Amino acid sequence: MKALILSDLHANLEALRAVLADAQPRGWDQVWLLGDLVGYGADPEAVVAEVRALGPSVSVRGNHDKTASGIASAEGFNLAARTAVEWTRQALSPDSLAYLRELPEGPLLAAPGIWVAHGAPLDEDEYLLEEAAAAAQFAAGDFSLCFIGHSHVACVFSLRTGRVDRQFPPPADGLRLWPGERHLFNPGSVGQPRDRDPRAAYALLDTSAGRVEAYRVEYDIAAAASKILKAGLPAALANRLRLGA
Ligand code: ZN
Repeated sequence: MKALILSDLHANLEALRAVLADAQPRGWDQVWLLGDLVGYGADPEAVVAEVRALGPSVSVRGNHDKTASGIASAEGFNLAARTAVEWTRQALSPDSLAYLRELPEGPLLAAPGIWVAHGAPLDEDEYLLEEAAAAAQFAAGDFSLCFIGHSHVACVFSLRTGRVDRQFPPPADGLRLWPGERHLFNPGSVGQPRDRDPRAAYALLDTSAGRVEAYRVEYDIAAAASKILKAGLPAALANRLRLGA
């Protein structure tokens, strides 16, 4: 079984379409969504429609999905994020708002031993960036592999012989899934990368090969950035796409 893993799309239609075009020849059987379909970008309605057309097998909600659809407050968001949330809410159809509102909280079991979560298995809103925090997640859940997003940083935490190591970026030749080893795998963000690589990020899991591959794809950043400006969203949201930060 091959699963296409998408996280933090953030209403960036250009990035999503580039990712799908890149992944198409590799193929997939299922789509797994790690949350944050909307927020920041200028195409929330089109991105939600495109995602629904993909028919994801497993989806969890992200913090922006919660705030845009009105089930969480934007308290704790910075000014740019809050402005984008308010803009996003009025740009979405009632049907898309309802879809976002009904996305479940993670973690969810996506396949035997394999979980998906937005931020971390224990807390959907946690930014998992450090080995010590990852160790606590391994201790609390009995997953062998958990896909996470939220930080927009493509990386993998691996627990081998009692020790947690972080690989940033994920291994270029793919992560082999050996019995007895456990991993928290962040594919990075489709629509707003923050790891100094502005290319759109995604991952493919191949359960029969026992392998996860992380990919980066060039997309039309200028088009996505100019739509953000044209929509009257904060210029910082356009600029950070160019920086990947
Ligand atoms: Zn996000």
